[in-house]
Amino acid sequence: MKIAIIGYGRMGKEVEISAKEKGLEITCVIDNEQDWNTNKQDLERADVAIEFTSPDVVIGNIKKLARMGIPVVTGTTGWYDQLNMISDYIGNCNAGLFYASNFSIGVNILFAVNSYLARIMNDYTDYKVTIDETHHTNKLDSPSGTAETLADQIISSGDRYKKWVLHPGVPGNDGISVVACRVPDVVGEHTVKYKSEIDEVSIHHSAKSRKGFAMGAVLAASWMVDKKGVFTMKDLINI
Ligand code: NAD
Repeated sequence: MKIAIIGYGRMGKEVEISAKEKGLEITCVIDNEQDWNTNKQDLERADVAIEFTSPDVVIGNIKKLARMGIPVVTGTTGWYDQLNMISDYIGNCNAGLFYASNFSIGVNILFAVNSYLARIMNDYTDYKVTIDETHHTNKLDSPSGTAETLADQIISSGDRYKKWVLHPGVPGNDGISVVACRVPDVVGEHTVKYKSEIDEVSIHHSAKSRKGFAMGAVLAASWMVDKKGVFTMKDLINI
């Protein structure tokens, strides 16, 4: 399998290491607007593209790859309010898109436990839920896409919560408070806490490095070759 790396920052470099460990060919690395023209021929040779850039360029990048007929695996977060529009675009181009707010197996286990716990806690109204996330100071979106996924899962797993609110916003009775901290050198920490006056129940994930994200993205890329449609981690792994 031949892959193109779109975005050569912290994650793009980690993807390169994981892809090479798997013996995959990297046809090109695209790290800015100009590279799209300079590396066009090498990009066209790719079976699939792995995209980790930023919220302001990801939509344009997905559209470009869709028009070229190259399936794209994107880990970029901060654009999910445009997911419906992009899904229609992918359908109209008969193209392929795989997106995930978090590619690590550990976080996807956390997602499964989070939905299960939310269904249980729905009936225990003495407990109020909060989500805490901490990331490095270079992260552009806030809260993290992973925190948004955790909040959306809680909202759809019961009837108590209708929305999430970024701290210091006031969540009210039907809102989930999401607290985002930015601290140097933290790869990614997420905690879901249910607090009552007498105790606290919590689940937590801490990423030790970016390797887990990159390995998941490379796995998704192998799976995406020749696929059409929009997919996410639930389609790839059975937890
Ligand atoms: P980064 O800032 O280190 O790298 C982004 C790179 O994109 C930069 O090198 C930049 O030059 C490049 N870029 C900018 N415009 C471009 C364009 N038009 N075409 C191609 N490349 C362009 O960021 P990062 O830490 O690598 O994170 C990237 C994204 O991935 C963020 O949204 C982050 O939140 C997300 N992320 C997701 C996961 C996951 O598992 N889904 C894990 C870690 C990070």
